[in-house]
Amino acid sequence: MRRLEIAAKSDRGRMRPRNEDAYYTGEGVFAVADGMGGHLAGDVASATALLPVRSLDGRVFADAATAQAALLDAILAANAAVVRKAANEPGLHGMGTTLTATIVEGRRLHVGHVGDSRAYLFRDGQLSQLTRDHTLVAHLIEEGQITAEEAAVHPQRSIITRAIGVDVDLEVDTLTIDLVPGDQVLLCSDGLTGPVSDAAIAETLSSDAGSEMAVDRLVEQANEAGGPDNITVVLLRFHDEDGSESAIAPTIIRTGPDGGEDASEWVSTLGRYGAGRADGRDDEPAENSRAQRVIVAAIVALALLAGAALGGRWLLSRSFWVGADEGTVTIFRGIPASLGPLALYWEAETTDVELADVAQWYRPQLEDGIAAADLADARRIVENAPRASDTPSPSPTTTTSPTPSPSPTA
Ligand code: MN
Repeated sequence: MRRLEIAAKSDRGRMRPRNEDAYYTGEGVFAVADGMGGHLAGDVASATALLPVRSLDGRVFADAATAQAALLDAILAANAAVVRKAANEPGLHGMGTTLTATIVEGRRLHVGHVGDSRAYLFRDGQLSQLTRDHTLVAHLIEEGQITAEEAAVHPQRSIITRAIGVDVDLEVDTLTIDLVPGDQVLLCSDGLTGPVSDAAIAETLSSDAGSEMAVDRLVEQANEAGGPDNITVVLLRFHDEDGSESAIAPTIIRTGPDGGEDASEWVSTLGRYGAGRADGRDDEPAENSRAQRVIVAAIVALALLAGAALGGRWLLSRSFWVGADEGTVTIFRGIPASLGPLALYWEAETTDVELADVAQWYRPQLEDGIAAADLADARRIVENAPRASDTPSPSPTTTTSPTPSPSPTA
């Protein structure tokens, strides 16, 4: 009787304002994605990339080759989806994500990988990195230009040379291993492997504690080391209650390209990509609201796939409110609130009214958001907003702001 024990955790870390990592754990499909691109685009990229991968869950594969092909197709579909979104939404230009995805098919583990998230195998007390980082420093190590120790503190260590969503052409590394009872497979983002050494990870995995505790401990280790980045860990433990299998040699069958990368490829990718990853992009406000809109769409898509939370979509798509965006009075859809890192609203219509044109006493409530029944009502609110040029005496009764209400309109 084989059994798969699964534990996963994602944490914002201590330095980043938001968590742009995403992960998926299902019956037989597991994945980690580390999004990047500035503002909200990273969240969109990682969430988008997981959709085709999770659609593999529950499928039964005839053999290893079929499973491997399906995984590769899903990763290519993820790439196409992120490329398309990045091209169509100005606020999302330059977004991308890593993707390390696995399928468990019988006793085999199939891995598909792009970027610098990692898959590790912990077997017989030994931690082996199954995936090769697609990073500048990994390339420099392979070239013999720097050592692993130098790479660990290299200022450009987070620059990746391959990512989902950058180009329609994508090289995906794939590999397959035969699992044996007692194996642990760890998928993680660089928020773990940057600050926490392989030795420290191995020590945690070797403890007798349950997988939930191991996952908590790994996240804790990254945070204790400063938590410089979002931390995501997915841990799989394979048990075989029969225990009859003799240990199989840890053969790794690589089906992806395994040579050094074409320098021109990573240099061009770097040029388009490196800066955004390091410090985020400075998008225009209008682009932000589009990004938020896409995020809402991504949440809705996830909710639909999960077969839940239809009520939320209804609420979001039916509500209007008037607020201010970078000094301009703006009509928003959605609700003036955030769900964790995600804004639950997006721009519906901009206006030619500047916040400075509005009477000063009225500005705070505009900035808080004024609920509207519908778009026409929102336009009326804008039209009737007291102007700074009007009589400047504020009447106390009119300064009472209606509380922005997230209630849907009938
Ligand atoms: Mn990261």
